[in-house]
Amino acid sequence: MTYDLIIVGAGIAGHTAAIYAARKRMNFLYVSETFGGQYYESGEILNYPGIVETNGVEFAKIMKKQMEFNKIKLNENEKVEKIEKKKNIFKIKTNKGEYESKSVIIATGSHPRKLDVKGEEEFLKKGVTYCAICDGPLYNKMEIAIIGGGNSALEAVDFTNKIAKKVYLIHRRNEFRAYEYLLERLKGMKNVEIITPANVKEIMGNKFVTGIKIEHKGKERELKVSGVFVEIGRVPNTDFVKNLVKLDKGGHIIVDVYTKTSVQGLFSAGDCTSIQNYQYAVSAGQGCTALLEAAKYIAEEEGKK
Ligand code: NAP
Repeated sequence: MTYDLIIVGAGIAGHTAAIYAARKRMNFLYVSETFGGQYYESGEILNYPGIVETNGVEFAKIMKKQMEFNKIKLNENEKVEKIEKKKNIFKIKTNKGEYESKSVIIATGSHPRKLDVKGEEEFLKKGVTYCAICDGPLYNKMEIAIIGGGNSALEAVDFTNKIAKKVYLIHRRNEFRAYEYLLERLKGMKNVEIITPANVKEIMGNKFVTGIKIEHKGKERELKVSGVFVEIGRVPNTDFVKNLVKLDKGGHIIVDVYTKTSVQGLFSAGDCTSIQNYQYAVSAGQGCTALLEAAKYIAEEEGKK
């Protein structure tokens, strides 16, 4: 069977595309390695239209309900390994099978960037983490370090300062690039020490993390911490299509405002794209656009026959 469309990735972008595909009664397949994108790790969502205040877990429940309502089936734990285009048909190989489709939407999001310092790999899940919401509660009354200067780092501070005894916020520059409301909240946190400009040199420990070595204003300093939260941005999940479609220097799939890529019939939406404004509302908009454009593309191709 040749599907009209295959949607890869089940974050907000993929989810939105799937809703529109279901409502259009398209013959589509929806596959993803995991359910939920970056939002799943969000402690607080305050900027999604129509929802005053929620968190990642609650938001995921609403999305599941919306999938049920629209009778959308997701092939979870299915990882796309390769996509090829032969004549006008896409051949999609996953860890579970092979499929054919007339069009594809890639909405695979991104994963956390690594610090690339000694100890990071060794102490992964033994004190080193990339998810404050998932692991923050483990550090009750302990001392922790959060690395980064963007929204993720500031959200991590916002969440963990209520749990940890002390939070060191370590950023390589003096200026932060986070929402004003997060920066304002920071001022009222008595157990947060901001150390800037500073670079992490090493993560130390025995069985578990015991501290970090930083370079602060030209001097080396050691901080005793039990947890290191690395929140230094994200890397797009696009490796599996690097030989198929044009990527930018950062590995994002280059898209235009219609979510079209360098390959006809292949669309992309959300944080894996070159769009730069990585916001939930933007991902939803791109997911919607990608679906409408894919439907248009299929109709045009059918019309040529
Ligand atoms: P980000 O905005 O790209 O910020 C990454 C931070 O890490 C920057 O401050 C950067 O420093 C620093 N950094 C990068 N590489 C580093 C390295 N090798 N060593 C040390 N520091 C490094 O990433 P993010 O905070 O993860 O956010 C990703 C995207 O999601 C953003 O577009 C963000 O706005 C969005 N987001 C939105 C929400 C929300 O809407 N509620 C929440 C979280 C994230 P420099 O500043 O010096 O470059």
